[in-house]
Amino acid sequence: DLDDHEENAQKEIDECHALKKHQELRIECSSTESFLIRLDEGTAEIFGAELHRGVSINVAGQKLAVFTWQGCKIHVKGKKPESMYIVSETPMISYMNAHTILNNKRKAALDSGKRGPHCIFLGPTDCGKSTMSRMFCNWAVRSGWEPMVVDLDVGQGSISAPGCVAATPIESPVDIEEGYPLEMPLVYFLGHATPSDNPELYKFLVDRLAGLLQRRAEADPKAAASGLIINTLGWIEGLGYELQIHSILSLKADNIFVLEQDRLYSQVSAEFKDKKEVEVIKLIKSGGVVKREKEDRRQSREQRIHDYFYGTASNPLVPVTQTARADQLMVYRIGGGPRAPSSTLPIGAQSVADPLRLTNLPASAELSQSLLAVSHAPSADQILSTNIAGFILVKDVDAARGTVTYLSPSPGNLPGRYLVTGSIRSSLN
Ligand code: ATP
Repeated sequence: DLDDHEENAQKEIDECHALKKHQELRIECSSTESFLIRLDEGTAEIFGAELHRGVSINVAGQKLAVFTWQGCKIHVKGKKPESMYIVSETPMISYMNAHTILNNKRKAALDSGKRGPHCIFLGPTDCGKSTMSRMFCNWAVRSGWEPMVVDLDVGQGSISAPGCVAATPIESPVDIEEGYPLEMPLVYFLGHATPSDNPELYKFLVDRLAGLLQRRAEADPKAAASGLIINTLGWIEGLGYELQIHSILSLKADNIFVLEQDRLYSQVSAEFKDKKEVEVIKLIKSGGVVKREKEDRRQSREQRIHDYFYGTASNPLVPVTQTARADQLMVYRIGGGPRAPSSTLPIGAQSVADPLRLTNLPASAELSQSLLAVSHAPSADQILSTNIAGFILVKDVDAARGTVTYLSPSPGNLPGRYLVTGSIRSSLN
């Protein structure tokens, strides 16, 4: 078996696949070595982004589907992927119908000077929420709209690094190799890969983001009519569910798409049954969505952090290692660590740990390998409510010398004075 596996792992392929109308070629590529896809004839798209005929794209390490509305010929070349197969049964037509309805709502909004649909995708982990957000976003852009994509999934972070809630306007289809554009994202740092580490802060940041997006929409009728496309956490039970409802209300989501789960669908429908303006729509999960284990998720988080500093194969970046005096770095933590269990408090007393409390931390060895957000805040008391400029990764804290060595995306001064730490670490070098 092992021999077979090794033989497969080394096998190179160079082949052409003919796809009929509405078929999809699914490819699971685990290796980070390049794997090329080229459209030779017809038309095809990957998660809503069109392929250009004759142009090879590199999809190392991705799991994806090449879908065709009319039929096409696809050339694939590189190390044999883990799996590659063609299917005829996909939910793409039902997705396209949903998109057409959204487009009509956008048109009506623009004509009447109102705001367009705020779409949100809900469902358990691995049901295709991120993929759907991206596809609906690409289709909207191809129809001439400029939607804002909002990512509330702090576990993965498809717009920025993990640990953030973020939004970015999309004006051209999302690059298949690169993902969402990194130029202008609006990012708030939670500092944790799950909101359970500080749910109050998560809600606070979602509210901040919602406020800013509302102001943007008020200033730009086309952006307002294009609406929002919101990707969410896969956590839909208990507190997770409460956080999702909070996000729906905060971002005024009115087109709620529920994937996979009937129970969640009926729960959310009941929640909004008295609100006429809110529509809850059930969507079928694609059979192509790949399940990821905890370890895969950890690795993909690590990969996101890697890509933040080093870029991707097709667009590499060169970060710099810098050293600063520890006493010059102003590092803050939000929230007071774990709350005291109520059993240890006098009867009737509340835990005093304030989830929104700011604490200034001395730069100590504890910060090693920690991802620090660089805040745009002009003063420390505004850290909580201010978005961030980017990140640095602490490599080493030398207590004897009083210095901190860190990785930064670019040389020179940091774009802000205040740094925010959480629990996100990376073993990146
Ligand atoms: P999570 O909540 O964990 O972030 P999710 O619900 O957002 O998960 P996705 O990230 O959209 O799920 O999908 C999981 C994986 O499946 C991704 O790697 C994605 O590229 C892949 N995938 C989605 N749809 C298809 C498809 N039709 N064919 C092949 N791969 C697919």
